[in-house]
Amino acid sequence: MNLIPESNEQSAWVERSLRSVWHPCTQMQHHENTPLIPVSHGRGAWLYDHEGRRYLDAISSWWVNLFGHANARINAALKDQLDRLEHAMLAGFTHEPVICLSEQLSQLTGHALGHCFYASDGASAVEIALKMSFHAWRNGGQSAKQEFVCLKGSYHGETIGALAVTDVALFKDAYGPLLRAAHVVATPDARTALEGETAQDVARRAAADVARLFGERAQHIAAIIIEPLVQCAGGMAMHDPLYLTLVRELCDRHQVHMILDEIAVGCGRTGTFFACEQAGIWPDFLCLSKGISGGYLPLSLVMTREQVYQAFYSPDVTRAFLHSHSYTGNPLACRAALATLAIFAEDDVLRTNLVRAQRLTAALAPLANHERVRHFRQRGMIWAFDTVLPDPAAGADFSRRFFARALDHELLMRPIGGTVYMMPPYILSDEESDGLAARTLDVFEQVLGT
Ligand SMILES: *Cc1c(COP(=O)(O)O)cnc(C)c1O
Repeated sequence: MNLIPESNEQSAWVERSLRSVWHPCTQMQHHENTPLIPVSHGRGAWLYDHEGRRYLDAISSWWVNLFGHANARINAALKDQLDRLEHAMLAGFTHEPVICLSEQLSQLTGHALGHCFYASDGASAVEIALKMSFHAWRNGGQSAKQEFVCLKGSYHGETIGALAVTDVALFKDAYGPLLRAAHVVATPDARTALEGETAQDVARRAAADVARLFGERAQHIAAIIIEPLVQCAGGMAMHDPLYLTLVRELCDRHQVHMILDEIAVGCGRTGTFFACEQAGIWPDFLCLSKGISGGYLPLSLVMTREQVYQAFYSPDVTRAFLHSHSYTGNPLACRAALATLAIFAEDDVLRTNLVRAQRLTAALAPLANHERVRHFRQRGMIWAFDTVLPDPAAGADFSRRFFARALDHELLMRPIGGTVYMMPPYILSDEESDGLAARTLDVFEQVLGT
C-alpha cells in the first residue's frame, strides 16, 4: 500500500478522502460546502491538521477521549502490551489485562456487578444487554418477557437491535420497517418542567409513566433501558437522579430488568465514576464503552449481577450466553482501559474535575445569560445550552455553520441541532477553559449574526 502521498497538501488529502472514505453520520454531499479536516496528529486537548492549524477537541472526539491525545501514560502501557500480546481469543483462553480490568470494574461497583462481558463498540454492548435480559428471563421460565422500554429522546446506538430502543427520528425513521417496536415512555428531561415544577417533580411525573406501563404489561417486559442523568445524543437532556431511584424501585416491584447505558455518561463524565452512583442504585446491566479505553481503542462491556450470571450457569449449552465477537476482550484495548483507570486513581481525577468544571462554568456565564440562549445546563464535565432559533427546522443549518465557524476559531464542536454542547477531555488547563468559553461566545454570536 502506498502511504506516501503524491502531495502532503491538505486539499489533496481531502480530495482523496472524499473519493474513497464514506464518512459516518454524514450526508456526503454536504462536504461540497462543509469542511473536512485531515488530522495529522494530536497532543493533549488539541488536534493538528496538515497545514499546522490546531483545533481544541471540545467534544473529546465524539466523547471518547478522557485524558488527551497521545497521552504519555496510556502510550507507554500500550507499547508494553504490544510486545507481550496483541490479541488472543477469549473463548477457552484468558489473559491478564481482561482479568485485571474485570476485577477493577467490579470493585468500582462494590462487587454489585461482578461479571463483565466484552465487545468492541457501544451498540454491541446494548445488544448484549438486551439479549442477556431476555435470555435470563427465559432461562428462569419467564419466556413471555420479550418487550423492551426506552425513553423519549433516547439514543442507544445504530445497529438494528440498538436502534429499536432509540428514539431519535433522524436516525431511526428510515429503518422503521426493520425494527421491533419498543415501548417509549416519558423523558424526565428537566426542561419539560411545567410552570412551578422542579426537576424532581418532572422525575416523579416521568416515573409515574413507567409505573403505569409496568402495571399494565410487566409480565411481557424484559427490561427498561436508560441513559442515566444525561440523554446525550438526543440533545444533552439532563434529569434529576431521583428518576433513577424511582425506576429502580419499580423494576424491583414489577420484576423488570434495569439496563443503564453509561456508554457516554460513565467514566466520570457526570462527576461520579458511574452516573448511577448519584442515585444510590445499581442496575441489573450496566453498559460501558467510549471513554473506558481513554479514547484509544474500540472496547465495550456489559457488567451484570450474580443472579443474572447464575441464570445461565448450567450443564446445558443452550442455556449459556453464546454471543461473541472476534475481538472480545482484546488485550490492547483492555490494557488502554487499565491505564485509563490508573490515571483516575493517580490523579484523583473526579476531585480535580470539580475545580475544572467550576472554572469553565464561570467562564461560560456570558453565554448562560445570553438573550439567544435557553436552558444553560451542566453536569460534571458536560455543558449544554439551546439556541433560540426562528424555527426548529433551522437547527441542522445552524449546527453545520457553527461547526465550520468554530474551526476558524481553533475549536472542534458539533452542535446537535440548535443545542450547543461541550464534553472536553479531563485535562483542560485554566487557559484552555477560558479560551474555550471566549471562543464559543464569539462563534455563537457570529453564526447568529450571519
Ligand atoms: C455512542 C453511544 C452508543 C453507541 O456506541 P457506538 O460505539 O457508537 O456503537 C450507545 N449509547 C450511548 C448512550 C451512546 O452515547
